[in-house]
Order: sequence, then C-alpha cells, then structure tokens
Amino acid sequence: MENINRSIRCSVEQCVHHCSTCDYCSLDKISVGTHEDNPSQEQCTDCLSFTHN
Ligand code: SF4
Repeated sequence: MENINRSIRCSVEQCVHHCSTCDYCSLDKISVGTHEDNPSQEQCTDCLSFTHN
C-alpha cells in the first residue's frame, strides 16, 4: 500500500513521490526552498524533494 502523507498536499502529478490515487505527497518529509533572492509570493518557492517521473 502506497504511503499517503495527509500533512503534505501536492498536485504535482509528474513527481515520482506524488500519490497516484490522491493529491498528497507520499514522502514522510519534504524540503522547500526558493530560487529567488527575495521571495515575495508562492511562485517563488520550490519543492526541493521533487523528482521527475
Ligand atoms: S516531493 Fe514535492 S513535488 Fe513531489 S509529490 Fe512530494 S510535495 Fe509534491
């Protein structure tokens, strides 16, 4: 049975860690970072645990 972490919602279906049957991450924990010098909105943040399928 696939792990579903209901504390981490995620809609990135292209990630290998995405739950196949619902919009959650399957990892126990993730890392979040930014690609901006001075992040000011949600688009500035990135899931650093993302792994392409
Ligand atoms: S690792 Fe990040 S991008 Fe991948 S399913 Fe989990 S929260 Fe989503």
